Amino acid sequence: MSDPKIPRGEFDPDDLLHLSAKRILVTGGAGFLGSHLCAALLKQGHEVLCADNFFTGRRGNLRHLLGNPRFEVMRHDVTFPLYAEVDEIYNLACPASPFHYQHDPVQTTKTAVHGAINMLGLAKRVGARILQASTSEIYGDPQVHPQTEDYVGYVNPIGKRSCYDEGKRCAETLFFDYHRQHGIEIKVARIFNTYGPNMHPDDGRVVSNFIMQALAGEPITIYGKGDQTRSFCFVSDLIDGLMRLMGSPSEVTGPINLGNPVELSIRQLAETIIRMTGSTSKLVFETLPQDDPIKRQPDITRARNLLDWTPKVQLEEGLETTIEYFSKIVAATQGAAERK
Ligand code: NAD
Ligand code: UDP
Ligand code: UDP
Repeated sequence: MSDPKIPRGEFDPDDLLHLSAKRILVTGGAGFLGSHLCAALLKQGHEVLCADNFFTGRRGNLRHLLGNPRFEVMRHDVTFPLYAEVDEIYNLACPASPFHYQHDPVQTTKTAVHGAINMLGLAKRVGARILQASTSEIYGDPQVHPQTEDYVGYVNPIGKRSCYDEGKRCAETLFFDYHRQHGIEIKVARIFNTYGPNMHPDDGRVVSNFIMQALAGEPITIYGKGDQTRSFCFVSDLIDGLMRLMGSPSEVTGPINLGNPVELSIRQLAETIIRMTGSTSKLVFETLPQDDPIKRQPDITRARNLLDWTPKVQLEEGLETTIEYFSKIVAATQGAAERK
């Protein structure tokens, strides 16, 4: 019989996974993409540390993960140094919606640039592999269509989008200089417009705006004439691409475009969402914001060849899941209002 005075401890079989798992830092892990990435990494058995200042991210995005003993959340702003012992870093911290990144443009550039320096300094100290969530905004308002990774872009350095575009461009420069100068293992993903559940309903980006407006029967706000184009990738495809890139051989540094090459106009997107929600919303046309790119479509040949990656989720399939997610938020908000 065991001695009752000797502590017996708790054993969780899940802890065994530690033996083969990696310790992975996800900055911006409470945001839209970050929350899906944390979930996918935990599912693979890794230990995940999420660092986020909750500017646009929400603890609610992580609710289902908080009980997992391999998951840790820390409130941290990446513009300040961070000391942790990790094997891999996914650097996602940065507001991505124009509405949010233009709210405090100086902080946006600091997040992109100082955040990159700190995370690269951390990667250098602990010898971690580091992935940068870069963006199609590297190409600015592109003069080449579709965009290939060797196109160097057409970017306004002093406009309203510059805090984000130039911040992300400088971050890419830092990644390649730390790689050349200090031998850090880097991976740079240029992410094109991605959508799906866990987007904030007030995020300000086009998919969330249009779905929330359609569900409320409010006018759909089209900026400009709506003939500008984007190519929309569903979140599960994007996360798969990021994880494949992180797992790729050392010589694959990127930059690599990750996005769905199916291009459509913003007006077509609005009409599709109205049809799929059965909404009575009408289109209203507002001013096109400064430097809003006219065309955007990724050439994903590199991702296909180097990562064997190609998006699988069709637009309407992805929109259906996203509409379902926003419908639940609307129903919960209405329920809460009625109970008051
Ligand atoms: P998001 O706004 O939902 O998530 C960003 C996260 O970073 C949030 O949780 C936010 O609180 C956090 N954050 C912001 N500043 C921070 C700081 N200084 N310190 C710590 N945390 C901070 O956006 P998202 O769509 O999930 O984008 C994630 C990353 O992917 C961003 O770097 C973005 O630039 C990049 N990206 C996204 C898209 C897209 O379509 N979703 C396209 C291109 C690039
Ligand atoms: N840094 C960090 N965590 C670490 C190591 C470094 O946040 O574990 C930050 C620190 O603020 C430093 C920056 O990363 O200034 C860049 O580090 P690097 O070693 O490249 O340069 P340093 O400024 O130390 O000369
Ligand atoms: N847009 C729009 N109405 C909205 C929000 C966005 O017409 O309510 C347009 C915006 O002008 C841009 C496109 O949709 O041309 C995509 O905008 P988003 O903010 O999602 O991302 P971007 O690709 O511009 O970074």
